[in-house]
Formats: sequence, C-alpha cells, structure tokens
Amino acid sequence: MDYKALAQLLFPEVTDTPEDMEARFPARELPEGAFVSRMAPSPTGFVHLGNLVQGFTSERLSHQSGGVLFLRVEDTDAKREVPGAVEILIDTLKHYHINFDEGATVDGDQGAYGPYRQSQRAPIYHVYAKLLVEQGQAYPCFCTEEELTAMREEQEAKKENFGYYGRYAIWRDRSIEDVKAAIAAGIPWVLRFRSTGNIENKLKFTDLIKGNLEITENDIDHVLLKSDGIPTYHFAHAVDDHLMHTTHVVRGDEWLPSLPFHVQLHRALGFKMPKYAHIGTLQKMDGSSKRKLSKRKDPELALTYYREQGFPVAAVSEYLMTILNSNFEDWRRANPDADLNDFKFSTKKMNPAGSLFDITKLRDVSKNVISRMNAAEVYAYVLDWAQEYDPDFAAALASDPAMSTAIFAIGRGGKKPRKDIAIWSEAKAYMGFFFDQFFRMEDGIDEKFSKTDVKVALQAFAAHYNPDDEQTTWFDKIKFIAETLGYATDMKAYRAEPEKYRGSVADVSMFLRVAVTGKLNSPDMYEVMRVLGREKVSARINALLETL
Ligand code: GLU
Repeated sequence: MDYKALAQLLFPEVTDTPEDMEARFPARELPEGAFVSRMAPSPTGFVHLGNLVQGFTSERLSHQSGGVLFLRVEDTDAKREVPGAVEILIDTLKHYHINFDEGATVDGDQGAYGPYRQSQRAPIYHVYAKLLVEQGQAYPCFCTEEELTAMREEQEAKKENFGYYGRYAIWRDRSIEDVKAAIAAGIPWVLRFRSTGNIENKLKFTDLIKGNLEITENDIDHVLLKSDGIPTYHFAHAVDDHLMHTTHVVRGDEWLPSLPFHVQLHRALGFKMPKYAHIGTLQKMDGSSKRKLSKRKDPELALTYYREQGFPVAAVSEYLMTILNSNFEDWRRANPDADLNDFKFSTKKMNPAGSLFDITKLRDVSKNVISRMNAAEVYAYVLDWAQEYDPDFAAALASDPAMSTAIFAIGRGGKKPRKDIAIWSEAKAYMGFFFDQFFRMEDGIDEKFSKTDVKVALQAFAAHYNPDDEQTTWFDKIKFIAETLGYATDMKAYRAEPEKYRGSVADVSMFLRVAVTGKLNSPDMYEVMRVLGREKVSARINALLETL
C-alpha cells in the first residue's frame, strides 16, 4: 500500500508538516525542574468537585515548581456542549482562585500555544493525522453505524471483547481503490489508529499517584478523528500536550484504562511522554460504606452548591488540601497562620484510591477559617455573597456598614473566637435581627414563666438600663433585678434547690434575649445591646411588653 498516496487522498488540504508545528510551538523557556501542567475540562455546563481537585493539584504542582498552568477547553464533543458552558467554566475556576498563566479566557486566548479551545485546532490535528497515515499507523474506516452495531452484537453473542480489532477491523488492510471508491460514494469516514498491541501483554507504568502499575495493552484500533474531522480526546490529548509542552498530566483515574493507548500514540507520533498523575475518584460515606459522589444524589458535587451556600473559597481550598495531602493537617497545626501556598504539595501524599469527602468536616474547616477573619473581611464577604443571592439582606448590610461591621466584630479576635458562621448564607439567621425589617419573634419564652413574671423582669430592666454602662455594671444590674424578683444568682444553689426560686438569673437574661433578638441563642447580649443602641433596645422591650 502506498501510504503517502493514501495520506494525500485523505488530507489534500494539509500542507503544514510536523516540523512546521514544532517551529510554531517551540519549547518553553523555563527554569530546570519547572512543571507545565494544565486543566483540560470539557464544557458540559456542570463544573464539579472533581474538576476542582484536579485543578488544585495541577495548580500546586506547576506553581510551586515555578512553572506554568494553562487552561485548555476540550470542546470536541459537540453533542455534550451546552451554550454558555465555557463561560460558566472559566468563571467558576476564577471564583476558586485557580489562576492560569495562559489559556482560554472569556475574552479569547492568552498565550503563545493556542488556540486553547480544541474545536479551533482541527488543522493542527490534521497535520499529525496525515503523518500517521503516511507512516501506515492510521487508516480510514468507512463502517456505518449499522455495521458497528452488528459487530457489537456478534461480539456479545460470542462473549468476545468489544471493539474494533483483529478480524473485526475490516478497513484495516483495504486497498487504496476501495478507499477511493468509498470516498467517491460520499461515505463518511473516521480515522483509526493501527494498533500493534496485544492483550496477552501487560504495560508496565509508573503513575505519580498510583505508583507502579501493570495495565493490559491495547489491541483496539481506536478512532483518532471523527467523521467531522474533529479528534477524539485521546488524539487531541497526545497532540496538544506535546505541542503545549505539558510536563505533567493530572487527570481523573477514569482515564487509566486508556493509558496503554496513549502510550502507543505518543510512540507512534514520536512524542516524549509527559508524566501522569491519575487522581482517584472522590468518595463519601453513605451509611457505613463508601461510594462515589453522584451528580444525581449529591448536590455537594456541583461547585455551584458551594458558591450558592456561601462557603468561603479559602475554606474550600483549605479543606480540599486536607483531603488531598495526608500530611497537610499536621503541617497546618504546626503553621496555623501560614499561607496555604507555603505548604509543599506532593503527589506522593495523595491517596491512590481517592479521597473521602465529608461536608461536615468542610463546615468545621469553614468555621475556623471564618473565625480567623477580621470583621471587615467578614462584612465584605457576606455583602458580596448577599448581593448575588439575597439582595434585600445586601441592601440592609450596605445601608449601615459601620453597624454591620460592628456586629461581625462581636466575639471576634482573642484566643477563643466565636465560631457561629460556617457559610455566608447563615449570616442572616445569625445577625439579621439587628435590622428591624428582618427581626422576628422566632423563639418564645418558656411557658413555665407567667406573662407577669416576664413583664415585671423586663420592666425592671427597662427602668435600670443605661446604654453607657460597662459590661460588669450592666450584668450586676441584671443580677440585682433577678435577686430582687426571687431568681437565683448562684447557679449552684439554684441547682440544689430549684423550687426555692422563681428561676435563675439565666432565665432573666433569656427574657431579655428573646425580647431584643427574638431568639434563644444570640451573640453576647451586652455587645448586642451596645450595637443596637438605646432606641432599638427600648423599642423591642416595649414591643414585647405590649403583648404581655
Ligand atoms: N477533557 C478531559 C476530561 O474532562 C480531560 C482529561 C485530561 O485532563 O486530560 O475528563
């Protein structure tokens, strides 16, 4: 067979050579040991935790080595593509502070190795497709859907492996005349790889996360170019990562079975193999067993979930680091205030079987992260979140930034800061009562206290209340009122003989708390009253008194 003639027949428009491509995408000038890695997501409209895990891993590996991280949009599957998905993707990755040095952006490409959208790279793939045909390593296949289905049914019936291989590879050795006739008849064709692999053999391979592996060789003549001339993932991966000079391919381990094919492709194309890090799938506990996170069952798989709920990005990063590197938590304990990026990330510390994701732990991490922020930061983040997801709340916060910040300052700082908020969407329930428009009587006062009990205590407080009091004076007054009205101020004595008292000082505080905040739980009452000011405190006490 004259492979050159076949190549010319299939790709008459291709005049560029692989050498031209090498010249167009020269080696990067980077210091010794710098990694080049990438995110190569498909724009399906659904950006998930797996994408983020992959992105963080690539980001850390490249940036901590002084290398490059780029974004390549793998939009070769037109069937799966959703309008606006590329923008959603880019916007989401930006939200999580994955900073790309180059690649696709909403305003087009940035960098010297583009285009960074695979759908725009067809002429580049065709140069290499032509090369493979010239070398007899690829050939056109004109099989129809029906023929392929019949093949599959036969394989199923005979309990044989599925796929286009061996005697099923019916276009593998057809004459150029047959090819010409099929083209003349207008039959669509795909380009297939001519595999020389044997499933009796194992490929030995070292993965940066999984370690030493032995995987069955590939004997299938996989598709390289689809009938529209667009490449499959496999072919595009080999060509793009070669020309973009990727040194480290970090991807999900669902690609591991394709690795033998990728090794074959690199060899056939004369490309140096990058290093691979295959990340295990994220799992969660379901009862007492582990399972993969599922799009259908687990809303927390979607990255939109964290944004809508208002998980600080810093908390998500911090938590993902704890599940990605087994030594991260120890490092964090030893370096509580260090920047996350000072941690030496390593693929060796990743669990080959995949990490276990636990939203409760993420919430705990988030509470800690938020408790270390100052009030101004918390205010800015909550406002930012509310502007997108709760405009009324945002308007209230923005109407009085000083008061809002003062509220977030309550219980903040010091050795044991309060940890009331795990996510920004909880801020309103936590502090909305400061604003009259959100204030509601959410919790009632225990019915063991009569209306008169509550009334008398609140009236007494109102009579003694002075907003200028120091905290001790303020509390002494409450104790005095309690004592005068027959409530215990010594909790031990109260617990020993509760029947001797109307209640305790804690109950009197509770009356006040409910009157002023509408709730049984709130931040420190003294601070709350100070921020609210005399007018509002008095108005709320009076409002409750009116109902008694
Ligand atoms: N587009 C592929 C995916 O989304 C990328 C895999 C890779 O990073 O090479 O799974």
